[in-house]
Amino acid sequence: MTLAQRNQHTIRRPVRCHGVGLHSGAPIAMTLKPAPVHHGVRFVRKDAGDHLPLLAHHRNVINTFHATSIGFNGVSVSTIEHLMAALYGSGVDNVVVELDGPEVPIFDGSASPYLDLVREAGLQEQEAPRRCLSIQKTLVVNEGEAFIKASPANRFHVRYGIDFAHPLVGKQEITWTFSPGSFGRDIAPARTFGFLKDVQRLQSMGLAQGGSLQNAVVFDDYGLLNSEGFRYNDECVRHKILDFIGDLALAGLPLVGRFEVYRAGHSLHSLFLKQLLAKPGTCRIFTPVSYAPAFIPSAALTPFMEPFPHSAGTV
Ligand SMILES: [Zn+2]
Repeated sequence: MTLAQRNQHTIRRPVRCHGVGLHSGAPIAMTLKPAPVHHGVRFVRKDAGDHLPLLAHHRNVINTFHATSIGFNGVSVSTIEHLMAALYGSGVDNVVVELDGPEVPIFDGSASPYLDLVREAGLQEQEAPRRCLSIQKTLVVNEGEAFIKASPANRFHVRYGIDFAHPLVGKQEITWTFSPGSFGRDIAPARTFGFLKDVQRLQSMGLAQGGSLQNAVVFDDYGLLNSEGFRYNDECVRHKILDFIGDLALAGLPLVGRFEVYRAGHSLHSLFLKQLLAKPGTCRIFTPVSYAPAFIPSAALTPFMEPFPHSAGTV
């Protein structure tokens, strides 16, 4: 989502890749293809017979357990969030995603490989203005102590906090503002993460069958199993922002606002988006051409005033 790009964009040419599904463990081929204006992101399961392309939209979310899945009329696609974040972060509005399996390939557990695919395909500007959604009123959605608060702003800001009882994770907090290039630099490389005991439990449930140290950061009770270490000291909270962006992309239009998120996950991200779009007056559609304030320096913006429940400093 680059507001400077005022028109919609698709990709210049088809690109194809192969990978493994994180939860299914199945080898999967994926092809991204150009699409016309106002098409959005639509998935086609080549292995599922004739079906209507499945629109990446919050109304089609059918499962948020350890991944975000969409489905309609018996056809589903799971683990879409990292690809959705990469498309959102690189400004692709319209694309067809063809798969020959039930899941988007996980690659290295981050969004960087999808960004590389978009770079390989190239961006194509289209003859229609991009429309965005701006937050108009404060909205807070919570589940226990986890919460998401949205409020008006003139850029996409997110402040995310997590708190895991693990010596290498603990309390992490980051405030991040979208700007051209910042997604690929600050967020996209952050890999998904998990705890060995949870991975073993998921595998006993038939999930995480493709999970490995090649596509996730995995912790045991005391340390990190990945010999290569972290990509960032706070890689976990950065990955949570990646997931949040991927789930917000299911609004169907880029969002502009300030988001404070604490200890959330796919389920709360999805619930928040449904409430945000269902409540009259909470957001409005605009085109960036009428939105000059989006370009004022972020340092001039009002800082967050309320501290998170913990006292970790902003990174
Ligand atoms: Zn993720």
